[in-house]
Amino acid sequence: MACSFQELSAWGFYAHRLINRQAVYSLPPELMVFFKPHLTYITDKAVNPDRRRYAVKGEAEKHYIDLDIYGDSAVYKLPRFWKDAKAMYGEDSLRKYGISPWSTYETFKNLSYAFERKDVQAILRLAADLGHYLGDINVPLHSTQNYNGQNTGQYGIHGFWESRLPELYATEYDFFVGKASYVPSPQLEIWKAIEIAHHALDSVFGFEKVLTQEFPDDKKYSYEDRGNITTRVYSREFSNAYHQMLGGQVERQMRRTIKLIADFWYSAWILAGQPNLGDLNPDKMQVPYENDNSYTPRDSLKHIREHRAYIIDPEVLFWKNSDKYLYFWQAFQKYCERRPRFLPVG
Ligand SMILES: [Zn+2]
Repeated sequence: MACSFQELSAWGFYAHRLINRQAVYSLPPELMVFFKPHLTYITDKAVNPDRRRYAVKGEAEKHYIDLDIYGDSAVYKLPRFWKDAKAMYGEDSLRKYGISPWSTYETFKNLSYAFERKDVQAILRLAADLGHYLGDINVPLHSTQNYNGQNTGQYGIHGFWESRLPELYATEYDFFVGKASYVPSPQLEIWKAIEIAHHALDSVFGFEKVLTQEFPDDKKYSYEDRGNITTRVYSREFSNAYHQMLGGQVERQMRRTIKLIADFWYSAWILAGQPNLGDLNPDKMQVPYENDNSYTPRDSLKHIREHRAYIIDPEVLFWKNSDKYLYFWQAFQKYCERRPRFLPVG
């Protein structure tokens, strides 16, 4: 059976998990003592915000910003702080085109408050979430309306860049990013990351276009088996050519993300007054309870963008649902029922 698998996530399941996990290793000992025992949670829940996109109103727009709708040089001109942005554009309009720069900062602040209260569950939940959002802002295609190449005949490029490439080449990447450092202006730092990611769009689209002229369709795509399904993927030859042409761009963005996450966790803790996390009662060290079976209201599905992605890592053939592991195919079917199909645009 030919069927395309649609992934849950920006940066792909695989990359988001890898990034969150790797960030823990950049933390100083005072934080490591807390995070290390929860490495599994921080890793597994790296994709939680993407799962909420379909169930929680107001979640979807936290993952991107369509800079191009604000005109030239928007990345420099848009108000840095939420209050000013709201005053200028109104909240509804901002939400329509994505609010990632501002909402990521909100999550950072909430994490800092959680550290202050020494609220174990909130710290874990918000740290995992923050890792995800910082991951998203470092993905170039999360800063444009043409987020899946749908306007330029490059449909599928989203999953290609952020899932297929990391899945093929991440084992060759160097993820040692050094120790976390304090970030004096987190909100501005977020914008800096978005600037860098946004500038990368030229090559993300441009190189794919150049290569597409060299590769006829039957060379550009191939079919690979994923469990029970055969999926059309960008061929290894095409992926390799793109990977070479990008000159380490995906790796650079992943490294930037890892460093940024560690910096932000660390800075949230500093701002909270550096509470001693080593003395937390082990009884309270339970991971947050989550109900993954939340009902998905129909109207929340509008405006939610999807992207195609490709699964390779056997680890992700299982989808962890509460305490049960569902077999990939069951999870896939269940997932298809819960979410809208990705309709080609144009
Ligand atoms: Zn996301």
